[in-house]
Amino acid sequence: MNAFADVIGPANVLTATDDVSPYAVDWRGSYRGTPEAVLRPGSTAEVAELVRRCAAENLAIVPAGGRTGLSGGAVPQANGPRSVVLSLERMNRIRDIDTRDFSLVAEAGCVVQTVQQAAAEAGRFFPIQWGAQGTAQIGGMLSTNAGGIRTLRWGNARELVLGLEVVLPDGRVLDDLRRVRKDNSGYALRHLFIGGEGTLGIITAAALRLQPALKRVETAFVAVPSPDAALSLFSRMMESGADVIAFELCQRFCMEMAAKHGVGLRMPLPLESPWFVMLELSAAHASVPLREILEDTLGSAMEAGEVTDAAIAESDAQRLGIWKIREDYPECSRKDGPAIGTDTSVPVSAVPEFLRVIEREMQERWPEGRMSAIGHAGDGNIHVSLHAPPGMDRPTWVARAGEMEPLVNAVAVSLGGSFSAEHGIGQSKRHAMTTHKDAIALDLMRTLKDAFDPSHMMNPGKVLPS
Ligand SMILES: Cc1cc2nc3c(=O)[nH]c(=O)nc-3n(C[C@H](O)[C@H](O)[C@H](O)COP(=O)(O)OP(=O)(O)OC[C@H]3O[C@@H](n4cnc5c(N)ncnc54)[C@H](O)[C@@H]3O)c2cc1C
Repeated sequence: MNAFADVIGPANVLTATDDVSPYAVDWRGSYRGTPEAVLRPGSTAEVAELVRRCAAENLAIVPAGGRTGLSGGAVPQANGPRSVVLSLERMNRIRDIDTRDFSLVAEAGCVVQTVQQAAAEAGRFFPIQWGAQGTAQIGGMLSTNAGGIRTLRWGNARELVLGLEVVLPDGRVLDDLRRVRKDNSGYALRHLFIGGEGTLGIITAAALRLQPALKRVETAFVAVPSPDAALSLFSRMMESGADVIAFELCQRFCMEMAAKHGVGLRMPLPLESPWFVMLELSAAHASVPLREILEDTLGSAMEAGEVTDAAIAESDAQRLGIWKIREDYPECSRKDGPAIGTDTSVPVSAVPEFLRVIEREMQERWPEGRMSAIGHAGDGNIHVSLHAPPGMDRPTWVARAGEMEPLVNAVAVSLGGSFSAEHGIGQSKRHAMTTHKDAIALDLMRTLKDAFDPSHMMNPGKVLPS
């Protein structure tokens, strides 16, 4: 490991078991690898030099950000080639913020929440938001093309990128870190690294788009009788004249798990309805009568039977309380016990049909399981899980109900959707790539991989099926 210590100093080459072990397992505890070391470079030049030295030592590189990924992408493959984890955590500077350009340049190791705060302090808004934002990093967010609750309004991470700096597998640095909004000078190469999950290169910095600060925000927690009713409410809100910036659909069972395992969570309504919606409207000007719009729209939805009860946040604390329920939910679900999860999307109009088919299939095939559905219904991304009966361990449940995941994927794909909406492929969905990904698309992806990384040393065993 001296070859690396020469570049980044011995303190940034971790080899002791206690130091390395947190990087050897994923957030869910489903994937474990055995990296020979964790390397923590402090600059782009150091990343480039480490990449060259890894090639000379024949060591594969697994890039790691905040390690909150849910597909096992940031952990070396068990029984894979000799590898090191390359953690970007020390590259955490915001290099520049330009309010006139509505842009911010951040290093890959910047925590997403730090970028949100820096934007807010400059009177701007960085819209990506989800439960792991206090730990996930810009490099990981871009490499997985993360979504979250604001996708319906501002798109996935991809749509917020103006430029990238990337260290390529041969150690060259692709400097495309520009803030220009229009550039049709050939292939948009940065889009290959966004969502590339570290298989084509290492993102070291990004120029990100900012938005004007939100001047008015209204948030509501709403009881709805069914996903069909939620869909009608969604159309109503979209037509209301306000900006709909979040629209989350949650089954009662999810809220029950949140109420049971959450710390400091307060349910705004009694959990009597089968479904709930968390929604948020915004306006960029304080004069917009947002509260009136929300109340009127909810009022008409109640008359139409689409809404049975609603709680509107009366303060910032109440508003944050509603989002805390949503953001803490994955942790609450994890505490509840083993579950088999999915990350599917369908066209927004197909969400009710998707849920109907899945519920019927689950009840028929695994009546002992407990289904949960929660997700970003405003962009069609619903996470369906099947929870083990109380007391059953994970291996037993996977052996019994493991077929649930391919089934849910197949239903989503049959309705025009995707088996991988926002968490990426990593290790966990490679099998589904073989089943569902178009053969020509797979062929092109393999050609790109060979062109960028001919020796396949960048994050091997991820994304592409073997
Ligand atoms: C509680 C919770 C809630 C979540 N909610 C959402 C959600 O709503 N929406 C959503 O989209 N995701 C969600 N996620 C998943 C996860 O937070 C995102 O995938 C996030 O973008 C991962 O960022 P990270 O920094 O933790 O990346 P990591 O997990 O460290 O890495 C993810 C992938 O990116 C690669 N990578 C990391 N950094 C770089 C880099 N600099 N260059 C190249 N490759 C790199 C890794 O090799 C790996 O393949 C959630 C996760 C948790 C734990």
